[in-house]
Formats: sequence, structure tokens, C-alpha cells
Amino acid sequence: MNAIAPALSVKNVQKSFGPLQVLKGISVDAHEGDVISILGSSGSGKSTFLRCINLLETPDEGEISVAGEKIDMRKRPSGRLEPSDRRQVDRIRSELGMVFQGFNLWSHMTVLENLIEAPVHVQKRKRAECIGEAESLLERVGLADKRNHYPAHLSGGQQQRAAIARALAMRPKVMLFDEPTSALDPELVGEVLRVMRTLAEEGRTMLVVTHEMGFARNVSNRVLYLHQGRVEADGTPDELFNQGKSERFSQFITGFGQAA
Ligand code: ADP
Ligand code: MG
Repeated sequence: MNAIAPALSVKNVQKSFGPLQVLKGISVDAHEGDVISILGSSGSGKSTFLRCINLLETPDEGEISVAGEKIDMRKRPSGRLEPSDRRQVDRIRSELGMVFQGFNLWSHMTVLENLIEAPVHVQKRKRAECIGEAESLLERVGLADKRNHYPAHLSGGQQQRAAIARALAMRPKVMLFDEPTSALDPELVGEVLRVMRTLAEEGRTMLVVTHEMGFARNVSNRVLYLHQGRVEADGTPDELFNQGKSERFSQFITGFGQAA
């Protein structure tokens, strides 16, 4: 580990599905405490980009490092990459907390069991310690009283807060969010965004794919705008939202009723 390395470094990630090149060389460095909003229209490659970072998809080209540790990849005869060390992939994946649009809690487990499952069985940590940590995480996301409930008995907003707590229970170095509020009824969006804002204020490193322009503008310190598989604009929220740094971005946000 390298103390001055970015928490996450992605270089020139490319990905095709058949003839369709979805990512055409994307790079980003997230330093400790960065909150980077990733914006772009549907189909621009945002989810594929996050999935390449934690190797749910294997990039065709590029490099990914977490806290200075580069993920080892080798070229297959086809010329495409594959990870060369499965155990490294599992370990690095556990350092990247992922929260999806759908809440993805295990339905046959209580909230508390959802939180301690991977820390106990994957990370092999002591159960009592994991329970204590899970309880304090549930407290922080406002779900202390729901620890023994099953996901089906929670609202969508509560389920998503539980999913965030579950990701945090792995003590990740970086949190990746893929449209965490898109599947929620409008009245439940705020409670999830408030939890995410708290994490940002705590100094957690986060990459957040979102259509919530208020979050991008007011909570993140950096915005990446993807267009057709490329980073079309990259800057502070002020540069992109207020100074009109990118004409195409300004057009994009006009569609959300946000003038640039
Ligand atoms: P976004 O999250 O920005 O909406 P995605 O990354 O989901 O975009 O998708 C980008 C493009 O890649 C879309 O055209 C989508 O249909 C295509 N795509 C995504 N995943 C796959 C897959 N597993 N197989 C084939 N095409 C895919
Ligand atoms: Mg998506």
C-alpha cells in the first residue's frame, strides 16, 4: 500500500459488447475523501464503468488500482484482458462497497444478518465484533429499531439505507453507487440522499452515478459527465453547472430543468 496513492485509480478503461464499444477509454483518479458524481444520459456507459471498476465486467483494456494496489490482468489469446488472480479480485472487490439501484438485500435474512453475513463469512471477522459494528452502522443510517426485520417489511428507502449500511460493514476503501435513488418513490429519495450526504461529510471516498442534480451540485466535489463512452466533461460542480465549461453538459442539464 502506498500512502500517497489515490484511493482509486482508473486508467484508459475500454469495454465493448460485441460490435458496440461502450467505454472508449475512461480514466479517473479518486483521492481520499473525493465525492465524484458521474452523470450522463441513459446508455452512456455509467453502469458499465462502475461494473468494470469492481470487475463485475472485465475491461478489454485499461488499469485499475485500489489504494495503490493494481489489479493484475493478463491478455487472453483474443487480446482481451482477464484478471490473473481470483483471490486478489475477491479481496479488492470487498474494498469497493457497491450500492445498486435495486436494493439487493438477501430476503431470507434480517437486516442485521444482512450486515454481518459478508464480514463474518468472507472477511472471517469475529461475529461479536461484526454485530457491534453493524448496530452502530444501523444507528447511523437511522435503522437501529429495524435490525430484526426482514427486508420485505421495510420501505424502499429503508431497504436502500440498509443496503448502504451493509456495504459499509465491509469497511470499504471506496463506495460505488449506481443510481441509488432511481427506483424509489419520490418521497423516499430524500432520506437516502441525506445518508449519502452524511457519508460525504465524513470524508468517505465515493463514486456516485446519479440523476440527482442537487446531489451532484451541492455534495460532490467533482463531476464527470459521460457521453457516448467518453468523459465529455470533468470538473468541479461550479465549473460545470455555473461556468458552463462544457456546452454539451449545459444542454444535458437543461433537460433536468437546471440552467447552466
Ligand atoms: P448507463 O448506465 O449509462 O445507462 P450502461 O452502462 O448500462 O449505460 O449501458 C451502456 C450500453 O451498453 C447500452 O447500450 C447497453 O445496452 C449496453 N450494454 C450494457 N451491458 C451490456 C451487456 N451485458 N451486454 C450487451 N450490451 C450491454
Ligand atoms: Mg445504468
